[in-house]
Amino acid sequence: MISVEEALAKIINSIQILDSEGKPLLDCLGQVLAEDVYSPFDVPPHDNSAMDGYAVQSESITGANYKNPKVLRVVGEVAAGRVSDLKVGPGTAIRIMTGAFIPSGADVVVPFEDTDEINRKQAAISKTKIGVRVSLAEGCNIRRRGEDIAQGELVLTKGKLLRPADIGVLASLGKSMVSVIRRPLVGILATGNEVVEINQPLLPGKIYNSNSYSLAAQVLRYGGIPELLGIAPDDVQQLTAAVREGLECDILVTSGGVSLGDYDVVKQVLATEGNVSFWTVRMKPGKPLAFGMFKRSDGKQIPHLGLPGNPVSSMITFEVFARPAILKMMGRSNLVKSNITAVMEDSVGNKDGRRIFARVVVTRRDGKYFAHITGPQGSGILSSMTKANGLAIIPENTKEVKPGAPVEVMMLDWDEVHD
Ligand code: AMP
Ligand code: MG
Repeated sequence: MISVEEALAKIINSIQILDSEGKPLLDCLGQVLAEDVYSPFDVPPHDNSAMDGYAVQSESITGANYKNPKVLRVVGEVAAGRVSDLKVGPGTAIRIMTGAFIPSGADVVVPFEDTDEINRKQAAISKTKIGVRVSLAEGCNIRRRGEDIAQGELVLTKGKLLRPADIGVLASLGKSMVSVIRRPLVGILATGNEVVEINQPLLPGKIYNSNSYSLAAQVLRYGGIPELLGIAPDDVQQLTAAVREGLECDILVTSGGVSLGDYDVVKQVLATEGNVSFWTVRMKPGKPLAFGMFKRSDGKQIPHLGLPGNPVSSMITFEVFARPAILKMMGRSNLVKSNITAVMEDSVGNKDGRRIFARVVVTRRDGKYFAHITGPQGSGILSSMTKANGLAIIPENTKEVKPGAPVEVMMLDWDEVHD
């Protein structure tokens, strides 16, 4: 048996980062930037007002206060989106709105609330004058040209994961098309004579193909594009044909057929079709696992992850092995989840020295996390996954975790489940 770390390292080392694609800006959310982005201009492109108020010269209002306002002559008005060709000189002011370019001559903006504008309006006094009730230092309430981003500055670096703020910054540079590492196409193939498609009648002895759907949903969640390749029976020829079809994808994920049963033919097919290793991994659930590289007829190598058939095992091995593989293909640098530490509320025994991934519900109380077991932990009990929001990790060498003991938890969902 190999450890989880050994298996993961072998998988990750065989996975290549995919090539890049040019896409419309908004479609790039969640993908990794494949180019360095420099700013073609200053952002903002011009000094502009941070307030609605009056653009003046700071010297014109030196010493002004509520009792002794400085009265200035209003020579014009400028709204956002307009450029005024008027100038501000000593003793004059231009009424200005937030975002409007600062007219030449002005070096400060006095907000409306620091003027007597409202009194003048109420008293219907001429709008050609304004009383300023504060003295402000040069530059006050002015957003300087280039204060956000300077022309020529490296704004976003190749390799950066694009989040909403990054999409916004790229938009502020007028970048409508962006080069990103493309999302992997993940082929998903179920195996098993007993497994039928979910739109077919459920005849005796059969079960529905839940794995392909839970796996495809996981692929979507982590940024890949799932391609459902159907169900291959436990027959060498038909499975071989299905696998070959799957080699059009960037990575092939199969479920079932990798353990020791009489009909576990995936092993047989994979061994003849590619360079595949079969491992027993020191984990529970998820002991049987296959990983290898298929050589396509054009010489390209396609990685294959053969996950176990039990519905819980296939989902957990996906989390542990397929998720990092997909992230690596997408050019992501942080492949591991940052686990939390919780207080275990139940006792969990570990008899056979494997790493247990126990389905737990994590709650937060008084600033601490607590984890309790969802119920029966059989690897066929898929409902244990719907109840859980995390996987408590019981180390190989821990015989029992007692209630009250700290435990590391890999979170599956933070906010979606269980408040
Ligand atoms: P296997 O690894 O092929 O021996 O399968 C282990 C268990 O998982 C068996 O009980 C199978 O019926 C079940 N199983 C295999 N494939 C699927 C699937 N696609 N959906 C739901 N259950 C499955
Ligand atoms: Mg099977």
